[in-house]
Amino acid sequence: MLVSQGVDAALAGVLGLLIGSFLNVVIYRLPKMLEAQWAAECAGVEGGDTTPAERFNLMVPHSRCQQCGHAIRWYENVPVLSYLILRGKCSACRTPISMRYPVVELVTGALFAWCVWHMPGQIGSLAWCGFAAALLALALIDWDTTLLPDDITLPLLWAGLLASLAGFTGVPLASAVWGAVAGYLSLWAVYWLFKLTTGKEGMGYGDFKLFAAFGAWFGWQALVPIILMASIIGVVVGLALKFSSGLREGGYVPFGPFLAGAGFTAMIFGPDAILRVAGL
Ligand SMILES: [Zn+2]
Repeated sequence: MLVSQGVDAALAGVLGLLIGSFLNVVIYRLPKMLEAQWAAECAGVEGGDTTPAERFNLMVPHSRCQQCGHAIRWYENVPVLSYLILRGKCSACRTPISMRYPVVELVTGALFAWCVWHMPGQIGSLAWCGFAAALLALALIDWDTTLLPDDITLPLLWAGLLASLAGFTGVPLASAVWGAVAGYLSLWAVYWLFKLTTGKEGMGYGDFKLFAAFGAWFGWQALVPIILMASIIGVVVGLALKFSSGLREGGYVPFGPFLAGAGFTAMIFGPDAILRVAGL
């Protein structure tokens, strides 16, 4: 039992490394694809030229070194290993490759292995692998661009409702549906309250959708602990950035990565872990 559980977790870890490699592409390209789409729509409204430039999506063109344009060959694209063998540099121009690529691959691999190890022999563990992958992509895209694309948040929300229906999450369907509704409406209400009282926008519609997805995956009961956890992570990271003067211009920090951090905590330790720690 323990051996097969270990083998399954190891296989899931390898799958996670490969999915992590794909997530790197999504994190880098999806925001650019959306920006190109918006630019094309604006040009269309203004009656300008709407013929798209060269094709750019998750599949084409093939990955290239951003410095010298060297086409990355398949054996230079093996998760983590290639990075180690190339010693973190482009094989053509020796420009350093961001540490983030292997780190995303390793983290995805670890999350997948964890899910399968903790839910041995259950199809539901694969659903949680998908949840983790989507969440990791969202956290990094939001951190980079302050966007939480609908292309990920909305499927994540639907997947949570379906996973509840299929019995993968152990959350009753009613709790998942009400969780989605309450998740969206609560942050929507906070947003407007904040906007009407201060004239500023504290978060975006993507945050409401992500929180709605959490309601679907964990049930409505988990929403208060999750938002509490996200706020604590936000304060800690915000202060750390402030003291290390890592704040970007205008001091704006997107909320999505903290929500995602709370989502990972809820997945690994249970949604009410924060309440247990606080002795509530
Ligand atoms: Zn290069």
